[in-house]
Amino acid sequence: MNNPPRRIYNSASVPQEECVFCKIVDGRLPSYRVYEDEHHVAFLDINPFSAGHTLVCPKRHGETLWDMDEREIAEVFKVASKVSMGVVYATNADGFRIMQNNGEAANQAVAHIHVHVIPNKLEDKGRFNRMKLSDKEMAEVAESIKAEIAKLA
Ligand code: AMP
Ligand code: ZN
Repeated sequence: MNNPPRRIYNSASVPQEECVFCKIVDGRLPSYRVYEDEHHVAFLDINPFSAGHTLVCPKRHGETLWDMDEREIAEVFKVASKVSMGVVYATNADGFRIMQNNGEAANQAVAHIHVHVIPNKLEDKGRFNRMKLSDKEMAEVAESIKAEIAKLA
């Protein structure tokens, strides 16, 4: 499949050197990392919809799904699926959302491809607003997601 010959409008576009997620990938910015392999990293969203909300990023910079080939698309969702198990076990969730935004119209705020993995509990069904966790809570949930993913290997 060839990429379509048009770009998706995105006011969040920045030169790659200034990309926040590239900086997280190469360690120039800190993150609560929960998973890493040769081509992907996963880390906690700093402004989560629920405790354990995780972002899975390909290391290679690209803005939208259209910047990846079919193998890369399959791989990032495969990783998101694996990460979702760690996230759900660690947070004792009852379900999870996968979300992937492309372009400003879809609310994409960081122009580096990422897949959201958002755990949901039955008691919070329907709630979809951001929350703030303390550093301690972020560190704890990250550790426990990491440990659960390690068990899956
Ligand atoms: P999107 O709207 O799909 O582009 O999502 C971008 C997500 O990245 C938002 O949910 C932000 O809370 C999150 N985010 C932005 N900066 C950081 C950062 N430095 N570390 C972790 N998450 C971030
Ligand atoms: Zn990037």
